[in-house]
Amino acid sequence: MITDEFKLINNDNSSSLDNTGISSHRTITLYCGQCGEPVMVKLKCSDRTCPECRRRTYFKLLKGWLELVKPMVNPKLLTLTIKNKSYLDKKDIKFIRKCFNKFLRKKYYKRRIKGGLYVIEITNKGRGWNIHIHALIEASSKKEGYLPQQKISRDWLELTGDSPIVDIRKAHTPKKGLKYILKYFFKPPKVNGKEEVYNRVLKKSRLIQPFGSLYGNKPLKSKLKCEKCGNDSWIIEFELEKELKDFRLNKNDYKNINLN
Ligand SMILES: [Zn+2]
Ligand SMILES: [Zn+2]
Repeated sequence: MITDEFKLINNDNSSSLDNTGISSHRTITLYCGQCGEPVMVKLKCSDRTCPECRRRTYFKLLKGWLELVKPMVNPKLLTLTIKNKSYLDKKDIKFIRKCFNKFLRKKYYKRRIKGGLYVIEITNKGRGWNIHIHALIEASSKKEGYLPQQKISRDWLELTGDSPIVDIRKAHTPKKGLKYILKYFFKPPKVNGKEEVYNRVLKKSRLIQPFGSLYGNKPLKSKLKCEKCGNDSWIIEFELEKELKDFRLNKNDYKNINLN
């Protein structure tokens, strides 16, 4: 399915330069499957610190999750950190994920947190790698929806073994909460010149994850529609080339048959 994540290009080349100043975003042409209208689209690059691709990811996630988090009645923002690391290692990302899952499984929180969405943020501001979780949670709307920071801090310290640093606050609306946890994707991550390490270690890591009542959901996708006819099925240029080639081959076969 072609989604409108494939944003149309508006003659905007200003932002298509990567860190080396060389554009690394391939463009392809799609043709409307109904009326043939061509549309040029830009593909994402493989650099996870690329400002342009991150901005696209941000808007895709915001649009895709908004309807899913909107029904939250008592949205809260929970931040959980672990101690800074000198080296970035996949196992530390696994570790914080595991701690958070254990945290959610505790009876106390199971009763109070229905579900939500979390983002793992990884930054390096010159004092090692900081890994933390920003979660938008739906807390129970009853009395027990109150989540005391001191208790969370104690439990998080027990789970991580070294980190009591947590924050819990009300998200005024689910939308504001969603924007807050996604803001990491809006800009390139601060990594102190260590883009290569960031890309290498995070390869294939998913940094956004739904849980509880939102578990199993994916961000909703909206299809790319033809501006001329409203159709939403597309033919990619190399598919078209292949079809034309096949057609030419068939024509030759036909000629050969005729000659015989
Ligand atoms: Zn069309
Ligand atoms: Zn890019």
